[in-house]
Amino acid sequence: MAGPKVVVIGGGAAGMIAAGRAAELGATVMLVEKNQTLGAKLMLSGKGRCNLTNAEEDMETFLAAYGPNGKFLYSAFSRFGPAETLQFFSSLGLETKVERGKRVFPAHGGAERVINCLFDYLKRGRVAVLRNKEALNLEIKDGKAVRFILRGQELEGDAFIICTGGKSFPKTGSTGDGYRFAKRAGHHVITPAPALCPVRLAEKWPPQARGLNLRNVSLSLVKEGKVISKRFGELLLTHFGISGPIAMDMSREIEDASASEGAGLLLDLKPALSAETLKARIGRDFEKYSSMMFKDSLRDLLPGGLIPVMLEKSSVEPVA
Ligand SMILES: Cc1cc2nc3c(=O)[nH]c(=O)nc-3n(C[C@H](O)[C@H](O)[C@H](O)COP(=O)(O)OP(=O)(O)OC[C@H]3O[C@@H](n4cnc5c(N)ncnc54)[C@H](O)[C@@H]3O)c2cc1C
Repeated sequence: MAGPKVVVIGGGAAGMIAAGRAAELGATVMLVEKNQTLGAKLMLSGKGRCNLTNAEEDMETFLAAYGPNGKFLYSAFSRFGPAETLQFFSSLGLETKVERGKRVFPAHGGAERVINCLFDYLKRGRVAVLRNKEALNLEIKDGKAVRFILRGQELEGDAFIICTGGKSFPKTGSTGDGYRFAKRAGHHVITPAPALCPVRLAEKWPPQARGLNLRNVSLSLVKEGKVISKRFGELLLTHFGISGPIAMDMSREIEDASASEGAGLLLDLKPALSAETLKARIGRDFEKYSSMMFKDSLRDLLPGGLIPVMLEKSSVEPVA
């Protein structure tokens, strides 16, 4: 007897795993993807190396990385957490290795290898894949999802799984359609906000030093004069603001705070030095370069790309 008919919309990581698993459990599965290729975003993950999961065993520590809403994921991760993810990929023949920060990567190759394993999973389950087919709408009858309207086609099913991704990197196909489908099915959808992304700033100076990668700096998020969050590490100045690990990591909190009055960012280029030590250091540099112009006296202290910015901010004549 043929199993229930399951239609999965979206052929990213989630859709491929959902389709393969439904097939494994006996369903007849059809996977619908609007792109020609499956897993376009997966190819970009971990700079092409695909950071599969994290080997952190303590669930509280693992969830803390997701911020205050991490608790929402507790039940999902309790059923299928990092250990199950590793077991799952191992069952597909993928060897993994653990790197700095307990990050897990394929032992050989990168994202492509992960995608190939998922292709095999789909093949094993005889999942029918419809490529270049965009799902346009979900039809609900008597409170139940009955049909998906695709471009030029309709698909009926006993169950539908929506795996259309979020809204990041829309070029990969994830344009947020799933929110519309979920709303139609009666779910309450919270307006999505950006996270783990570069930050656009109103400040005019970062574009002047764009491309500059600042190491060992600190970035603080300040609200009403109080530091509410702080990161230490690498920050990249871009033509629109800031990027790099510490900016990306803090982006969700910056977005949350950006609507409030009195919120701002503080960039400390020398966080390891106290104000007194820094003052003494600048004094020594001025003495050392006393016969040179002001701009040249800053060259031991700052990267070249930041000197014109600092000159402008300090209002000191560069040739003084
Ligand atoms: C640059 C970058 C690096 C990343 N690095 C990592 C990493 O190292 N580790 C990690 O765990 N995560 C990483 N992520 C996040 C990870 O890639 C995503 O969480 C993951 O790909 C989400 O999978 P998904 O299947 O939910 O959605 P997606 O991968 O976005 O897939 C959704 C699919 O649905 C299709 N679709 C959308 N709408 C429709 C429609 N109407 N009809 C038909 N098909 C549709 C899309 O074309 C797409 O193929 C990274 C993300 C980016 C952008």
